[in-house]
This record gives sequence, structure tokens and C-alpha cells, in this order.
Amino acid sequence: MSRGRFTVAGGGPVGSLLAIVLGRHGYDVGLYEGRPDSRVTSIYQGRSINIALSDRGWHSLEQIGISSDAKAQAIPMYHRAIHGLDGNLSALPYGREGDAIWSVSRGGINEQLLDIADAEPNIATHFEHRLVDVDFKTASAVFRRQDARELVVDADYLFGADGAHSKVRRLAHNLPRFSYSQTYMPQSYIELTIPANPDGSHKLEKNALHIWPRKDFMLIALPNADGTFTCTLFLNFSGDPSFESLQESAAVQAFFASNFADAMDYLEDPVGTFLEKTASPLFLVQVFPWSFNRKVGLIGDAAHAIVPFYGQGMNCGFEDCAELNRLIASCDHDWDAIFPAYEKARKPNGDAIAELSKRNFVEMSDLSGDRLFQLRKMIEAKFSARFPELWTPLYSLVTFSPDIPYAEALRIGDEQNRVMEIIMALPNIEDDWDRQYVMDRLHELAVEVATR
Ligand SMILES: Cc1cc2nc3c(=O)[nH]c(=O)nc-3n(C[C@H](O)[C@H](O)[C@H](O)COP(=O)(O)OP(=O)(O)OC[C@H]3O[C@@H](n4cnc5c(N)ncnc54)[C@H](O)[C@@H]3O)c2cc1C
Repeated sequence: MSRGRFTVAGGGPVGSLLAIVLGRHGYDVGLYEGRPDSRVTSIYQGRSINIALSDRGWHSLEQIGISSDAKAQAIPMYHRAIHGLDGNLSALPYGREGDAIWSVSRGGINEQLLDIADAEPNIATHFEHRLVDVDFKTASAVFRRQDARELVVDADYLFGADGAHSKVRRLAHNLPRFSYSQTYMPQSYIELTIPANPDGSHKLEKNALHIWPRKDFMLIALPNADGTFTCTLFLNFSGDPSFESLQESAAVQAFFASNFADAMDYLEDPVGTFLEKTASPLFLVQVFPWSFNRKVGLIGDAAHAIVPFYGQGMNCGFEDCAELNRLIASCDHDWDAIFPAYEKARKPNGDAIAELSKRNFVEMSDLSGDRLFQLRKMIEAKFSARFPELWTPLYSLVTFSPDIPYAEALRIGDEQNRVMEIIMALPNIEDDWDRQYVMDRLHELAVEVATR
């Protein structure tokens, strides 16, 4: 017996996972995606775009009962490989030994989730159906098909999983008491490629996330299973240097040669690609509420578009799905209770990861290459290894601690910041960082925080 009918608008990774959650709880689900089916039309072909999935993402998939097939194809990245301006290479571990973030193909994981959704008897997937209107009182929606014909779809409930530019969210602007903010970052980005060696091996160390931190801008590279790396150049939209200021081939060549000299040996036509591509903007969207009339909800990037500097956008969307999975059971399918409980649980965490992600640009692009930053990380790592019950570094709280909500990680991280500012201000810290008195002082402060 059907528990009711759901429409999910947006068949990206979060919409596909949500459809599986709802289908497995006994709902009839219509999953409507605006683009063609990438499994048939290969829209991702020739372009490996990858993302870092971490413990929160994997944990959420496990809770929903998705097997770890995707992990078998993912590449663990155990540390940051930092490329200095002088070509010097250093390694900064992500966490304790064995901790890794995982490079996965964005299209690949989306397709795997669509395959799982298709195998569920009560989920119907529809491609080339673009949502154009929603009735927020009835959850009825209008979709425009490829042939321009419009289709009205009635359901009991609807979720907008239609991404950072969500149409469902934009339509909600007309509702009373809807709060909305959109903030552009100074940076934009383009993707570049490092091809594989002729034998299919990687040109750079495979099990690392490579970073060329250059303060106001940076280049990063994540490995793909086919031996290539997908690189992303984050650079200001305007100012100097910027996508706007670098217009001539000679200037772009000089920019790459002076900032990423070692990468120039590997990158595939960086200058041509830079001049040819339009840089994509980075922006944050924060809204409230995330649900309307106990009928329509927002999820994933549609509810919380964040910047990618913590590699958590998809992880956060998967956590949204895991939370709904839990609430459907604990609220016994009562959507009058589930919608408010869902946004109450997830909104503070969406806001926290938005803040943490914004801050992490500075950490990645500026401080990763800085001696004091590396020292601070080493002190924290040493202390944390000795007193794990007193100190888990912020990066590990966000990335390797799925039981700690983002909002709690942000709070603890702020406390740790205050403590480390005191430690890093100790006289002679650069020479003495490994000495016992530094550990003793840190222990004293950490105990103070823990017992407050
Ligand atoms: C440069 C970059 C790097 C990133 N790196 C990471 C990372 O390392 N780790 C991480 O966890 N996250 C990362 N992210 C974020 C991650 O990509 C997103 O959080 C994730 O894709 C969100 O999934 P989603 O399903 O909510 O939205 P989307 O992936 O945007 O999917 C939305 C879907 O809805 C469809 N759609 C849109 N409008 C309509 C409509 N009107 N009708 C029907 N369908 C519609 C779209 O075609 C799309 O398929 C990164 C993002 C960027 C930009």
C-alpha cells in the first residue's frame, strides 16, 4: 500500500538519494530531472568532474542502506600535497593515520544513485522535464518537457532538489515571511585538466589533494580513476590578478609561469583553456523556512548553496537525506511533524557549514603555505594524538566526525582558535613548538575549555 505520492524536482545526487529514501519508506515517487539522462546521452563524457566525499557522505549513504559500491571506485586522498612557489613539495595529513577524503566522479555517483532509484518499484524517473511552477498549497507542479509541452503533476508532497539555482526556491520568494540572502564571493573558478601518462598512470602523486596556495588565489587538483586530474583555478573575478584583468595570451602565460611553474609541465593547454572558458561565479544562498504549508520542502543545494572550500556541499545534502530518513521513521510518516523537525535539525547545520566553508578559503589559499600555519597544525596533531579525548582538530570534526553536527564543530573550532592564538603567541614558539612546556600549557587551556 502506498504511503502517499511525492514529486522530487531535480535528479542530481541529492534528489536521486531522496527519491530512494522516500521510495524505500513506501511512497510513490516521481523524480523529475530537467536535463537528459546522462546514462543514455553521456553528457558527462570526456569531462571528468570530481568532488571530495568524506565520512559524512559515506555515513549518510550507509544509514540509508546504500552499499559501498561507489567507494570501491573512489580514490582516497590522505593528505594535502602543497606545491610551494619555489616548486617545493610538502605533505600535510588530513587527519590521523588512515583518515582520507575520497575523490569521486560527480557524474558517476549521480548515475549510480539513479540506477538504484530505477531499481525501486515505486520510483518513476523522468528526464527532460523542467519544473516551471509549483502550487505551494497543494504540491501540484508544472513541468515543461523537451517538446515544450507542459505537464501538470499532482502529488501529496513535493521536494525541490533542483540545486543552487533552484526554481522551487525562487518561486517561494513570493510567499509571505520567506527570508533569503545570496552572497557572491570575490572568487570565480575554471576547471583545467592534467592528462594521464601514456600508460594510464597519474602524473602527480595519486593519493593526495594537490594545492598550489597563492594567498588571493589557488589551484587545486583531485585525482580521477582514469589517471587524469581535475584541476580548479580559484581566482578573483576582478582586480589584479583576476579573470577580468588577464585577457591577453602573453599575460596569462606569464601568470601561470610565475605562479604554477611546476604544474605547467603537466596541465593541458592552461592558457588556451583560461582564455576560452567563462569563469563560473561562487555564491552562497541562505533561506528560511525550508518547508512551506507542510507540503513542499527544499533539500541539498536548493536549501543551502555553499562555497566548495571545505568540500562539503554534497556531504551536507546527503546528511539532509539521512535526517529525513530518520525522521520519517521516528515521526511515523506524520509530515506535519517531519517538515518542521527537518528544518529545525538541518538549518543550523547548513548555516554552520556555509560559514566554515567561507573561512576555509583563507586556510587553503593563504595559510596552507605558511610556516606558522603548518606549525600550528603540527602542534594540534601532536596534542590530539596524545589527548584525543581533549582535542579533535576542526578539520577532523567537520570531515571525519559524522556524529558531530556541523554547528557543534563550528562552536568547538571557535574555542580551539582562541586557545591556539594563546599558544602561537608564546615567545619563541617557532623554535620551541616541540617542547614539553608548550604541550603542558595547551593541556591546561584545553582542560579549562572542556570543563567550562
Ligand atoms: C567547483 C565545485 C566543487 C565542489 N566540490 C565539492 C566537494 O569536493 N565535496 C562536496 O561534497 N561538494 C562539492 N561541491 C558541491 C556539490 O557539487 C553540490 O553540493 C551537489 O552537487 C549538490 O547536489 P544537489 O543534488 O543538491 O544539486 P545539483 O547537483 O545541482 O543537482 C540539481 C539537479 O536539478 C536539476 N534541475 C535544476 N533545475 C531544475 C528544474 N527547474 N526542474 C528539474 N530539474 C532541475 C539539475 O539539472 C541537476 O541535475 C562542489 C561544487 C562546486 C561548484
